[in-house]
Amino acid sequence: MPLPSVRVYGARQCKAISRRLKRRCLNPAAYKCSTCRYHGATPLHTRKSMQGESHPQYKHGRLTKESKMSDRRTRLRLWMLEQIGWHLKMFQGTKTRGRKPNEYRQLDLDDPEQMQYAILQTLV
Ligand SMILES: [Zn+2]
Repeated sequence: MPLPSVRVYGARQCKAISRRLKRRCLNPAAYKCSTCRYHGATPLHTRKSMQGESHPQYKHGRLTKESKMSDRRTRLRLWMLEQIGWHLKMFQGTKTRGRKPNEYRQLDLDDPEQMQYAILQTLV
């Protein structure tokens, strides 16, 4: 039988269903979620604080979304610089191995506008 808050006062009931008994949880739903606090409901301010350095699995910050995005931008800048250097015949020998950065697009550096675009990419 549900708690009096659900039965008498019309509070929303938890929607979790027991795997073993196939019965619905009788607790009231908590924190404006569809489940009770035993089945995963958490206050909004708690969910927000579980990001970044306050997350329990945060270790060093090298693999956060921001640092990965920064690494991608740096890789693109270096790739553009190398392409400009090859175009201006500053380098000799073999080119850098490896795949191109994801954001890279093939540019015709003889075109002044595209050369300007490539230079601006390296400055940002
Ligand atoms: Zn529940």
